[in-house]
Amino acid sequence: MKAEPADQKRLLDLQEVDSRIRLLTHRLRTLPETVEVQRLEGRVSELRDAKAAAATRLGDLDREQRKAESDVDQVRARAERDNQRLNAGQVSSPKELERLQSEIASLHRRQTELEEVVLEVMERREAADAEHARLQKEIEAAEAELEAVEERRSAAVVDIEADLASAKDRRGRVSAEVPEDLLALYTKLRAQYDGIGAAMLRYGRCEGCKLALSTAELGQIRQASADEVLRCEDCRRILVRTTESGL
Ligand SMILES: [Zn+2]
Repeated sequence: MKAEPADQKRLLDLQEVDSRIRLLTHRLRTLPETVEVQRLEGRVSELRDAKAAAATRLGDLDREQRKAESDVDQVRARAERDNQRLNAGQVSSPKELERLQSEIASLHRRQTELEEVVLEVMERREAADAEHARLQKEIEAAEAELEAVEERRSAAVVDIEADLASAKDRRGRVSAEVPEDLLALYTKLRAQYDGIGAAMLRYGRCEGCKLALSTAELGQIRQASADEVLRCEDCRRILVRTTESGL
């Protein structure tokens, strides 16, 4: 293929802008803020689940406490009834008297035990309450952090998209200056060879594959006419000569 040396050099400008577009697109896809947003969303969701479980525990303990308190009330009421009977002098049989006194003593012991149960449930309820409050604080902190990272991500996206838009604009202008057949070859090679279709021959080295050309290859290139479109023997990309080629 033949192409004006100036057109061949224009291909290097196109390659540069294409590489920049590729880099910016990659950067947009792999923003660290995106990973961080996902992590924080997961954390907020976990914390909300834990808070819901803590609220359920709290409800269970509320019921448990009310039940324990009502058990205490029942025992206390029965002991009071027994005491009233005793004090009213209604019981005359010594055997019945003894039974009643023994029941009152046993009800007092039972009441003490049940009051301990109430205290123990209240302690567990306080701990559950504190856990619930702690989780709520953690959720608020994680949500605030998430919001800050989302803002940072949006700002980064806006910057990169602005750079991308100007790079694409430049690409449009540069590619319009490259002859169609040369552009087609470049496009095909770029798709084939990892985004690089044209490379500069720089001081005897192909910038595409970074390999130094042999003396024989350089000799052939010196012989070639300036409008001959050359290809690297190693990576097959279009090899563009400039004043820095070292020929
Ligand atoms: Zn090469």
